[in-house]
Amino acid sequence: MLQGKTALVTGSTSGIGLGIAKALAKQGANIVLNGFGDAEGAQSEIAALGVKVAYHGADVSKASEIEAMMKFAADTFGRVDILVNNAGIQHVAKIEEFPIERWDAIIAINLSSAFHATRLALPAMKAANWGRIINVASIHGLVGSAEKSAYVAAKHGVVGLTKVTALENATTGVTCNAICPGWVLTPLVQKQVDAKAVAMGLSNEEAKKVLLQEKEPSMQFTTPEELGELAVFFCSAAGNNVRGVAWNMDGGWTAQ
Ligand code: NAD
Repeated sequence: MLQGKTALVTGSTSGIGLGIAKALAKQGANIVLNGFGDAEGAQSEIAALGVKVAYHGADVSKASEIEAMMKFAADTFGRVDILVNNAGIQHVAKIEEFPIERWDAIIAINLSSAFHATRLALPAMKAANWGRIINVASIHGLVGSAEKSAYVAAKHGVVGLTKVTALENATTGVTCNAICPGWVLTPLVQKQVDAKAVAMGLSNEEAKKVLLQEKEPSMQFTTPEELGELAVFFCSAAGNNVRGVAWNMDGGWTAQ
């Protein structure tokens, strides 16, 4: 379905980003990977799916490095048809104790990077009259949780940016939508499981249950594979007129 298209996925050396990159590669898209994890491992997983793959190590907290990454993608594959803004970090602390440097980093990586990559991707997408921008927001783009001020603010911002991007391009073949996962057991969440296990004297399995119990009626983690399939849907012809939605995959978190 996506043969001849190129997808750039930020933060795709692990977790959700890698899951989405693999799902798009299975549909035939060439992939540009990015992130600070095991780049070689991720590249060989994508290459095994029979598509072309490249990697750029941009630190997406820096606009100049995003510019270099977008130029690299265009030089390597011609243009970016599918942009997945996925890179993200978390920090958990009460507002009055929140380190200013962590606030700034979360806003830069989780929100501003999506603006920069989007503004750089749009001209070629509009010229081709086809493009897909998929922002990996979070359930925290729709509701809040205590001690996650920067993350919740950034993710609500991402949902807003998604709507504006969709509206500004509504008469074109370029769509923009957000994916809002609940808990997904990636390195980002495993850190929060570990912290809970230490704080409450629990085993890894018990801490996972406590985490799910607080928010997810399904008592199930969403998987990177499931999120990858949602990204594939947004890229399909059936997604042509899906514009500006924030689609949750959250085990019932926000149905409560
Ligand atoms: P992860 O830690 O596995 O992946 C994050 C990726 O971003 C990694 O590849 C990491 O190297 C990369 N990254 C971090 N800082 C970067 C930077 N400055 N420049 C470039 N790359 C950088 O985490 P994940 O859970 O897969 O998270 C992916 C996205 O999904 C994030 O935006 C996160 O907020 C969102 N999300 C995660 C969950 C969850 O439960 N795991 C839920 C909702 C939303």
